[in-house]
Amino acid sequence: MNAPHRFPGGLTLEPNRAISTRHPVTAVPLPGRLILPLGAALGAPAQPCVSEGERVRAGQCVAEGEDPAVPPLHAPAGGRVAAITAHPAPHPSNLAVTSLVLETDPDAAAEPPWPALDAGADPAALRARIHAAGITGLGGAGFPTAAKLADAAGRVHTLVLNGAECEPWISCDDMLMRTRAAAVLSGGRLLARAVGAGRIVVALEADAEAALEAVTAAADDAIEVITVPARYPAGGERQLVQALTGEEVPAGDLPTTLGILCQNVGTAEAVHRAAIEGRPLTHRHVTVTGDAVADPRVMLAPLGAPFSDLLAAAGGATPGLDRLIMGGPMMGFTVADPAVPVVAATNCILAATTALCPPPQPALPCIRCGACADACPASLQPQQLYWHARGGEVDTLAALGLGDCIECGACAYVCPSHIPLIQYFRHGKAEMADARQARTIAERARERYEARQARLAREAEERRQRREQKKAQARSGGDARKAAVAAALEKRRRRRGTTESDGDDGGRP
Ligand code: SF4
Ligand code: SF4
Repeated sequence: MNAPHRFPGGLTLEPNRAISTRHPVTAVPLPGRLILPLGAALGAPAQPCVSEGERVRAGQCVAEGEDPAVPPLHAPAGGRVAAITAHPAPHPSNLAVTSLVLETDPDAAAEPPWPALDAGADPAALRARIHAAGITGLGGAGFPTAAKLADAAGRVHTLVLNGAECEPWISCDDMLMRTRAAAVLSGGRLLARAVGAGRIVVALEADAEAALEAVTAAADDAIEVITVPARYPAGGERQLVQALTGEEVPAGDLPTTLGILCQNVGTAEAVHRAAIEGRPLTHRHVTVTGDAVADPRVMLAPLGAPFSDLLAAAGGATPGLDRLIMGGPMMGFTVADPAVPVVAATNCILAATTALCPPPQPALPCIRCGACADACPASLQPQQLYWHARGGEVDTLAALGLGDCIECGACAYVCPSHIPLIQYFRHGKAEMADARQARTIAERARERYEARQARLAREAEERRQRREQKKAQARSGGDARKAAVAAALEKRRRRRGTTESDGDDGGRP
């Protein structure tokens, strides 16, 4: 069935997926070292629960979050913890983060699998297993899945399994659906159960024909398979929901507001592995592609495998390699060091020449052509956002909806003036966040000041009341004393009067 609606804007791009779907999914040979960054998409980084020099089994938990929302990390292979040290991580900042370096041993023992949960498992038990398995969203955002499910539980009626690739060149979800369709759907049923959703929809792009065939064959009557037009960015959550329902996710909200939860098909497969096969998240499918790699393909890679190992397993880089990108050409970022490891969010390693990803051209003035607005899938006015971002007008940027920009790059792609719009928007968002933080700090300072003023006034009033009380007591105490003195004098006076009259009588003859 085709999606009944469309999302606005978007681009028709050359998918370039055929070159990485020619081979079956290939397992990456076990690297000598795996690097597991301890940073988390949510909350504080996980803390290692093993020490340097310690031997670990494949599947053993090696780091846990102090924050219950931060999922644990498990060793993708057995071996020895060689170091817990700073290592370059796949992140736009290219900064090093604390990582656990594991020297692998192919002969090391593995943890036994957890017992399978049955199809009627309690939703809370399912969410607990998903958390224990360390599952984070495999679509690219890396958000902890159990936290997302806990937030959605009881609030959604529909689970959408998102099989629409987020960018051209990326084909790992396509290959996953071709090869593991039954596991994807099993994971989808478990996810729906974990949040109480009664309807399950698998959404994939219309040109993913082999995946469509595999999923349709594996689906029962309770699962709807819907194709969306192969138009970038069909894989964006908000765009997908709009294409499926015709409804726009309200600004600043999530699809759960409309009763819909989206989960990537890779995440669903990981949930099946955790709940039914009893295995934590230790591997993921990665697209290794581009015009500067000899033999592009989709690989099943252990988390922590260096990008360079995957590149080598795909035949190596070809002459002309200009840069390695994690993600696709539209939203991905350049990694400075090929030793950075695969993480749960690594859906693609794109080896690109300058022909595929040309260096930025000099920006020219905006000619107000409006092409950017036509391309925007979030119905924004990028040229206006650009003007106000240049001026640092954060309130106007917020009012114009910059917060809803998904940084898809469609506007910059079509801009004839080569204006690096995304850079302005990221900067504008950072300024908005700074302004929000400054407002929060100022608001808290104001609340603290007002609370202090109120406390001082209250204390002054209490002191005044105590003084009044003392005065009153003093007054009433003085009156009592006076009364006592008067009574004593009166008594004495009466006694004297009595004595004098007794004396008079005694003097009579
Ligand atoms: S596409 Fe570029 S030149 Fe045209 S209006 Fe947008 S920012 Fe200006
Ligand atoms: S990057 Fe933002 S403003 Fe530009 S097209 Fe995408 S959503 Fe619209």
